[in-house]
Amino acid sequence: MTVKKKTNTREETAPTVGVVSLGCPKALVDSERILTQLRSEGYQLSPSYEGADVVIVNTCGFLDSAKKESLEAIGEAMDANGKVIVTGCMGAEPETIMKAYPKVLAVTGPHQYEAVVSAVHDAAPPIHDPYVDLVPPQGIKLTPRHYAYLKISEGCNNRCTFCIIPKLRGDLVSRPIIQVLAEAERLVKAGVKEILVISQDTSAYGIDMKYQAYPWKNRTIRTKFIDLCRELGELGAWVRLHYVYPYPHVDEVFGLMNEGKVLPYIDIPFQHASPNVLKNMRRPAHQEKTLERIHDWRRMCPDLTIRSTFIVGFPGETDADFEFLLDWMKEAQLDRVGCFKYEAVGGAKANEIQPAVPEEVKEERWHRFMQVQQAISTAKLKAKVGRTLPVIIDELTENGYIGRSSADAPEIDGTVHVTGKGLKQGDIVNVKITKSDEYDLFGKAQSAAIAV
Ligand code: SF4
Repeated sequence: MTVKKKTNTREETAPTVGVVSLGCPKALVDSERILTQLRSEGYQLSPSYEGADVVIVNTCGFLDSAKKESLEAIGEAMDANGKVIVTGCMGAEPETIMKAYPKVLAVTGPHQYEAVVSAVHDAAPPIHDPYVDLVPPQGIKLTPRHYAYLKISEGCNNRCTFCIIPKLRGDLVSRPIIQVLAEAERLVKAGVKEILVISQDTSAYGIDMKYQAYPWKNRTIRTKFIDLCRELGELGAWVRLHYVYPYPHVDEVFGLMNEGKVLPYIDIPFQHASPNVLKNMRRPAHQEKTLERIHDWRRMCPDLTIRSTFIVGFPGETDADFEFLLDWMKEAQLDRVGCFKYEAVGGAKANEIQPAVPEEVKEERWHRFMQVQQAISTAKLKAKVGRTLPVIIDELTENGYIGRSSADAPEIDGTVHVTGKGLKQGDIVNVKITKSDEYDLFGKAQSAAIAV
């Protein structure tokens, strides 16, 4: 007689989830949607609280009696299991829940399916089966494995006259912070060394959610720019901030940059400097004192790289506006700059502003602008010769390696050409800078890969 050796099937080793769904049919549909997603990831449903790895309580907050029932259900699940995620209508009042049960793992509002699923992943990670799962645990990435874009919100509340994004994507909708952080953690676990935070307006993150707070690890964090930066800074990866508008609260992030938690790099799309043009553009957070603020930021964070983009030839831009912009650039001494000639996008309000700037004038202004910026960039890079900078390696070429320092975002900024041996994509090494040109640095690797 042969005895078959028993191997654990995926079903037997899969984490289990208990669910209690209170309230109306809409809440029931929400629960079904969450469970469908979890089942598709291999989770098993548990018939009891006791046997579950985590319990989801989908609450109702319609009447006081429903709230009471919801709180009782949370209490029961806490007593029987202890690992509880709360969602549904009562999740819109996280303070009430946290006050009664400070140890619940996460509180999410109604229809926040992704946030619930992220919280479950955190409490009881899914088992990844490379033979069955079509998608790796960190999702499908179009970037190389060592860096990844982290989208924190969709849409925009601003109405810049040259832009049709709000028409296409609607107003700002932020992703709950626990969902964003769970994704960031997955990325880092999967080998990502650099996270690039993107959105249409990064510093407005969470305004639409009134900075909703959530429990995370052993603390409470808000869906807010500074909390996000602080938490991302704990993950042990490079964190690079894009599309930050200079609202006053942005100043808080420079402390984290000095501590090495967030890269001393900030991408602020100024687009112009002349007050007339900025007014016509209806740019957010534009103010007369931007130059003063730039000087303040550099005082607060001396190693700061400021990147920005500009538009020349915007309708109504006069010679005087353009000269103002050039003078402003010379004073601002921005490190990395992109410049575009204005293009009339169909449906953009700016097209109605008169007079349009002739193409040859746009062309001439663009060249003059780039000349000024090139001189600034050349001088700034020259000042780095002799320094030793950490560099992340992007690729190996016939002549050595190409990498980036904290001052260079992938695709849009310059690079560091590195000589050395035995480096791999994603390694972060100290590089002694020996030479510079208009946009790039050149140097020699000083050490083996260093930990982030
Ligand atoms: S802030 Fe950006 S996305 Fe929003 S309207 Fe202005 S240009 Fe468009």
